[in-house]
Amino acid sequence: MNRRPFIAGNWKMHKTGQQAVQTATRLAELCSDLTDPEVMIAPTSLSLPLVAKALENTPVKVGAQNLHFEKQGAFTGEISAEMIKAAGAEYILIGHSERRQYFGETDESVCKKIKAALEAGLKPVLCIGETQEQREEKNTYLVLDKQVSNGLKRFGLEELSDLVLAYEPVWAIGTGLTASIEQVAQVHKHLRSLLEDLFSKDLADRTRILYGGSVKPENVKDLMGIEDVDGALVGGASLDADNFINIIKYNE
Ligand code: PEP
Repeated sequence: MNRRPFIAGNWKMHKTGQQAVQTATRLAELCSDLTDPEVMIAPTSLSLPLVAKALENTPVKVGAQNLHFEKQGAFTGEISAEMIKAAGAEYILIGHSERRQYFGETDESVCKKIKAALEAGLKPVLCIGETQEQREEKNTYLVLDKQVSNGLKRFGLEELSDLVLAYEPVWAIGTGLTASIEQVAQVHKHLRSLLEDLFSKDLADRTRILYGGSVKPENVKDLMGIEDVDGALVGGASLDADNFINIIKYNE
């Protein structure tokens, strides 16, 4: 199955609007001759409309980092899927471990957010991953299976055609630790067969599964060489366009 490689940058809570536009503009310059992989950056919500405007007619796509599942109402400080879409986003990260860890995100809210994203025409990137403790207790698959099945249980095959899954072991995010090639290969293979069990072989074959966790220019080629790895979700190493391009052009 031919899955288009996908490299996504998560800018977390970094950069003012002006700084974000500057980096995005530089990234677009560096990507001007790019056909593959597909590239996306997720700036803060405040920067998103500015970055989306700066990236119009370039190969670089835009995503958001979070949404509220309600359409509108008295939810101070929140933004809806429709607002994010209208601001120029195509993708949306859902269930990032930092949101699960610090902001009480649960599989239940993840599921509601995916529903809201799909209704607004946003493509969800569902982030899942085990903690160090869960891995040591040999509960990795148990945790991942729960996150995937609870997050996706309400949806049918057609709704999930644009789903992207991102496996991000919590212990590898922002720590400099990367999962070994063998660990990543095992988990990604497992996730693909889980998608087949839960949905269909066709959906499992089509769904892109990204790896995230301290991806950098030095390790991206080996990670992308793994059979079931279709891309990377990159935090720290995506903040500088001249560094990020070395991850995007991992094949050159
Ligand atoms: C992330 O934020 O999803 C991430 C993987 O971060 P980092 O690349 O910095 O580990």
